[in-house]
Amino acid sequence: MQDQLLTQLGSLLVNGSLTDDAVLAATDEHPVLPILPNANVVKIGGQSLIDRGRAAVFPLLDELVANLPDHQMIIGTGAGTRARHAYSVGLDLGMPTGVLSILGTFVSMQNARMLHYLLAKHGIPFIEPVQFAQLPFYLEERRGVVFFGMPPYIYWQPNPAVGRIPPNRTDTGVYLVSEVFGARSMIYVKDEDGLYTADPKKDANATFIPRITVDELEALNLEDVVVEHNVLEFMKNARHSRSIQIINGLKPGNLTRALNGEHVGTIITA
Ligand code: ADP
Ligand code: MG
Repeated sequence: MQDQLLTQLGSLLVNGSLTDDAVLAATDEHPVLPILPNANVVKIGGQSLIDRGRAAVFPLLDELVANLPDHQMIIGTGAGTRARHAYSVGLDLGMPTGVLSILGTFVSMQNARMLHYLLAKHGIPFIEPVQFAQLPFYLEERRGVVFFGMPPYIYWQPNPAVGRIPPNRTDTGVYLVSEVFGARSMIYVKDEDGLYTADPKKDANATFIPRITVDELEALNLEDVVVEHNVLEFMKNARHSRSIQIINGLKPGNLTRALNGEHVGTIITA
């Protein structure tokens, strides 16, 4: 290929090494395109919400539907208790992380299927990653879609540093969707008011943290946090999704407030 046909970046990439930091730095010259800047990514927790059944799910879905006229939503599902059971059987049978990742995918898909059928009468489709190219159309026409939150690493899921549970699960999967599409917000709907200094289910002295940065959170070195660690890891290199919000979906009105841009729950920023 003639060099004149290439931009400066083009010739750098064609002739240079993709492991050269200077070459890599040059690829960040232009801002990344926000593809779906009006879409909100909303994760509905598996263990924290869907596993609680109709008492938790029905009011939340009512609130979600009520917000569709005003807010486009890409709705991702967690996996929850059944995935943990599948992991325990898989581990007992000697399955590697990549296979556990497949098991978790099917459980989060079960949850997505059920939410989808509950929302079907509102015209909300269930979509798989292969259909993400149609997201603009679905969001424009129907305002919302349901997908399974588990990221499609499957066999390629990397081993965690400790143990064998897939480190990139549904919190991470939905986060990466919000990042790649440059979504307006990333809202985690769970069963606690947000992030605390400890798991409030285990420590009555845990105090609520309304706002924190990823660096501050790491410095606290908390024993347990409310989102998967890899979400915080990925946030460090985020181009778009530099802020996530964790809200209590058991309290009516929280989702609406979060969608309206209000500070409810915890906001973690990169
Ligand atoms: P999901 O259902 O979305 O997968 P999880 O159950 O994995 O959600 O995570 C949410 C849970 O994390 C909360 O219900 C809470 O009990 C627990 N948790 C652990 N550590 C914390 C913390 N520091 N602050 C708040 N919640 C925490
Ligand atoms: Mg979880």
